[in-house]
Amino acid sequence: MSEMAFKITFAILWFIYILIRVQFDKKYKQVEKIKAVNSTTERLLIFLLLVGLILIPLFWSFTPFMDSFNIGLPIWLRLLGVAISILSLFYFWWIHKTLGANWSPTLEIRKGHELIKIGPYKRIRHPMYTQIWLWAIAQTLIISNLIAGFSGIATWAILYFIRIPKEEKMMVENFGNEYIKYMKQTGRLLPKIIRL
Ligand code: SAH
Repeated sequence: MSEMAFKITFAILWFIYILIRVQFDKKYKQVEKIKAVNSTTERLLIFLLLVGLILIPLFWSFTPFMDSFNIGLPIWLRLLGVAISILSLFYFWWIHKTLGANWSPTLEIRKGHELIKIGPYKRIRHPMYTQIWLWAIAQTLIISNLIAGFSGIATWAILYFIRIPKEEKMMVENFGNEYIKYMKQTGRLLPKIIRL
């Protein structure tokens, strides 16, 4: 597969990702917001993520200007990145469908907010973040570029580590013991290994 083919595949993958997101983006806006946590910091971090995970990589994809930073990863590793991305897109759709109107891009509690514990949320508390980690790692493999490949992982790691304690605190404040119990049954990004 040539460099150009990877660039095109990468842009198509993002196109599908955005198509999935746009469908679910309409839903949550229809439900009244009750609480928002640090939304200015949240918005700033999301803006950083937008630049690091989407804009810089798409700049690599649509122009030749960053090619001098290509690191020449083996083709099989880049194809593995494509395979992980495709699988993670199905996962992404399933997560969004299950979370429904309870999803929001920043930390928010909405009217009638339900604690979802089924489907992808049965054993993992933050499947969407698992998906973004997979997506960011896969992107690094596909792009094989020092700057555009790693800007996504770096900006996502910042957002993830700042957000996780705040999100879990917000959920405990809102759902109390139900969330505490749910935390004991689940892992953050991977299923908890249950010891008998
Ligand atoms: N952290 C989750 C959801 C990300 S979207 C995941 O990775 O899958 C962020 C919003 O989802 C937060 O504002 C929070 O209100 C909501 N949320 C997180 N976990 C939830 C759950 N189990 N049920 C319902 N809403 C949830």
